[in-house]
Amino acid sequence: MTSSRLLGKLLRLKALKISDFEFKRRDQELHLSVKPYKNGRRCPHCGRRGRIVHQAASFRTWEDVAVLGLKILLHYAPKEIECPTHGRVQEEIPWADAYARVTYRLEYRICALCQIMTQKAAAEILRMPTSTLSDLLHRVITRARTGHRIRGLTTVGVDEISYCKGRKFATIVYDLDRACVVWVGKGKGRETIDRFFQEALSEGQRDRVLWASCDMSEAYINAIKHHLPNVTLVIDRFHVVKALNGALDEVRKEEWRQLDSKARKAIKGLRWLLSLHSRNRTKAHTRFLNRLRQSNRRIHRAWVLKDEFEHFWDFRSISSAERFLKRWMTAALRSRIASLRTFVTTLRKHFTNIITFIDRPLTNAVGEGINRIIKIVKNRASGFRHLDSFADMIFLTVGDLDILAQIPSELRTL
Ligand SMILES: [Zn+2]
Repeated sequence: MTSSRLLGKLLRLKALKISDFEFKRRDQELHLSVKPYKNGRRCPHCGRRGRIVHQAASFRTWEDVAVLGLKILLHYAPKEIECPTHGRVQEEIPWADAYARVTYRLEYRICALCQIMTQKAAAEILRMPTSTLSDLLHRVITRARTGHRIRGLTTVGVDEISYCKGRKFATIVYDLDRACVVWVGKGKGRETIDRFFQEALSEGQRDRVLWASCDMSEAYINAIKHHLPNVTLVIDRFHVVKALNGALDEVRKEEWRQLDSKARKAIKGLRWLLSLHSRNRTKAHTRFLNRLRQSNRRIHRAWVLKDEFEHFWDFRSISSAERFLKRWMTAALRSRIASLRTFVTTLRKHFTNIITFIDRPLTNAVGEGINRIIKIVKNRASGFRHLDSFADMIFLTVGDLDILAQIPSELRTL
């Protein structure tokens, strides 16, 4: 066996031949002169062989996956060929995409690593600057998603997320049936969500969306109603519960301000306990809360109302859910607690879109917790300065297109 063949076998280089090799930079780099197997000359579009019209003079270099710290670089001068169908084109490079500076194998490894770790950590393992890796990753994802169309979208979820220490916002659109992200856009206002409906969906696709879930922001609600003629909107349960918990905490804060230090003792450490779902409470928790009946009637009243509200989500019939909610709102108003009254106003405003939950318990939080995964991605990187890199990571981990599967299967070695 010649040493070139041995090298090819060791490095598992497929679809190419090594014609020469050289170690450089004190054996830190291995440079390989290669050429496509069976002399190439294939059209990148149809795979047919073409006649060489131009023997390219300029060599190109591709970085491959490093082996035991040894950097591997491939060199080849692609030829221009004449395809009977596609005319004059550059021949297909079997080991890399037409415009890539790295091999498919390295692209695959970058994507696979970034699915489970930060770009910074992946860059360290692959011994390249983080900015280079970010750039490469962005190219792969952009290439994979170019021309990709959203398909079969009937249940849509819209949510906002901050990605730069709470200063910048993005709008994320989910396919809630398939539990994946179909779109990420800058901003959280009406223009952003309008852009999604206008640019990403055709008129027919908009007609076919039957269910939608979002928070209580006017921008999202109005846009959904405007663009989706056949949709039933369900306000995301999580946001309703969050608003109620907020109202409850408001009561606690008010009381805290008014009480002297002795009376404060009775309600110390309540914040977390009040927001807990009854299902997650221990008996000791409940005893503690029940004692409030004597020590602080206002908080106790508000808490009981909050607990009662939980039943709403379990109703199966619209009419009884409606009756329950109306009765609950009357009771909340009678409590004379300002923050609960404000919550009732919110409920009234969104009444029809909250009731729809009984028909279909839709929420952005289900679907294998896509938004939970997104938050993990965000926290792992401790925020993103640019939306592009955040969006890349979202599409890579919970996108509607399997990015890794876009790389030729025989070159998906790790
Ligand atoms: Zn062709």
